[in-house]
Amino acid sequence: MDILKVENLSKVYGKGDTAVKALDNVSFSIKKGEFTAIIGPSGSGKSTLLHLLGGVDRPSSGNVFVDQTNMYELNETKLAIFRRRQIGLIYQFYNLIPILTVEENMTLPLLLDSHKVDQAHFASLVDSLGLEGRLEHLPNQLSGGQQQRVSIGRALMSNPAIMLADEPTGNLDSKNSGDIVDLLRMFNKTLNQTLVVITHDERIALQADRIITIEDGKVAKDEVIRP
Ligand code: ADP
Ligand code: ADP
Repeated sequence: MDILKVENLSKVYGKGDTAVKALDNVSFSIKKGEFTAIIGPSGSGKSTLLHLLGGVDRPSSGNVFVDQTNMYELNETKLAIFRRRQIGLIYQFYNLIPILTVEENMTLPLLLDSHKVDQAHFASLVDSLGLEGRLEHLPNQLSGGQQQRVSIGRALMSNPAIMLADEPTGNLDSKNSGDIVDLLRMFNKTLNQTLVVITHDERIALQADRIITIEDGKVAKDEVIRP
């Protein structure tokens, strides 16, 4: 089953002489449970694509379907709720809220939608992410690897259909990078969660089921490594 379907997606930033075509008529589908790596040169449109998969921006034209929902037909309010429920986003610099504790960072997205926190789910995530004893800490009291684990926990609290990560190990040393990739893959396999990761790290790309190469805003290559 295709959980994610991208149809003729284009994105132009700016207008007139300074307009930049960041994505040019991109189409592809991703199956439920698939782990896809997105690679390509800097400035080729990878982050733009990931943001459009995640409902954090709007395309200039084209559609993104997540599990049958045409995301960009939703109004802003509905899109924000849909995104918090269905999409987990992970960034290179974690994007944690500095004045909130680990526990508050993890539970905030649910509370914003007035959902109750499933304490058993929370405890099991804290356990798998090795965050015991850190719940009352602030982000700046944690190492980079720990902060990224908190951001993974935050993304997983709502059991999203899709996890999207933009250079999740770009700020980490090789030991911590390996741990983060192992965790993302573990959740991808055990929860059959769809995982899309932008990466410059060949070791990550080679663990994926599929590698999509973006060049000049287009899909230059699409290789299935593990069917
Ligand atoms: P990548 O992630 O592959 O480095 P991006 O998606 O960040 O590529 O950028 C693709 C192109 O779009 C680049 O030319 C970049 O300068 C441009 N771009 C990205 N974001 C913006 C923006 N908010 N405003 C204007 N141009 C942008
Ligand atoms: P890692 O090898 O995971 O990057 P570090 O060497 O950065 O870890 O940190 C080792 C331990 O010290 C970690 O458990 C981390 O939580 C703690 N630590 C790191 N930075 C700080 C800080 N600024 N304040 C409090 N504790 C910290």
